[in-house]
Amino acid sequence: ESILVLLYDITQVRRLETVRTEFVANASHELRTPVTAIKGFAETLLDGALKQPELAEKFITIIANESNRLETIISDILELSRVEKKSEPMVVKPFEVVETVNNLIQFFYKQADKKHISISVDAERPVMMKADQHRIEQIFTNLIDNAINYSDVDSEVKINIEQVNNSVHFSVSDKGIGIPKADQERIFERFYRVDKGRSRNSGGTGLGLSIVRNLIMNMNGTIHVESEVGIGTTFHIKLPLE
Ligand code: ADP
Repeated sequence: ESILVLLYDITQVRRLETVRTEFVANASHELRTPVTAIKGFAETLLDGALKQPELAEKFITIIANESNRLETIISDILELSRVEKKSEPMVVKPFEVVETVNNLIQFFYKQADKKHISISVDAERPVMMKADQHRIEQIFTNLIDNAINYSDVDSEVKINIEQVNNSVHFSVSDKGIGIPKADQERIFERFYRVDKGRSRNSGGTGLGLSIVRNLIMNMNGTIHVESEVGIGTTFHIKLPLE
């Protein structure tokens, strides 16, 4: 029995090591892309492009954009590490969720308007929760942002909030591009994206759903996805009220 336990331990350690090595490799790769661009365009500027104002402006714009991207990746990595380590204490207090989400969606109107996407919240009655409000907002922010980014123009995003016994059930639905069955299990993995180009163009890092899943696990909740390519995607979340 003890040998089996030892073997199991070694397997676990190896598995964790692989996960860690993979993470470092992925993170380095993600960071290198913008760094390479910044370096290349800076060098081109120094090599003479600076003297051509139009070209210079174009290159400096790229450098500024890629620097922003670098910042986004780094802050997402730090955020993921914070939620994985549970290093920040939960700030638990009572609040009403429907109002919280209604306030939150206003920050998305501009982004949604550009694509003629409507956002609506459906809830029969207020739901009081005792939890970390900021973390609930973080979950919705990530899911709403994805719902808009992975939808084409003239579409809609619907949020549902419902109290069921001692828990709250949320869903965030879109009529966007959907997620192929084979990818559905993997989208919660760090840096995993179905379409790298599309994710990058919309400012994605592939870390949002990993952060969301960790936040939900820390609150003893569950998340699952239901999706069909070309039809849309719904994320279902269940959280205890307290
Ligand atoms: P990203 O920063 O790339 O959006 P996420 O971790 O938030 O990273 O999501 C991982 C991947 O899951 C995305 O790259 C995308 O392929 C897919 N995805 C997430 N949400 C949706 C959605 N609402 N509709 C379609 N695909 C989605």
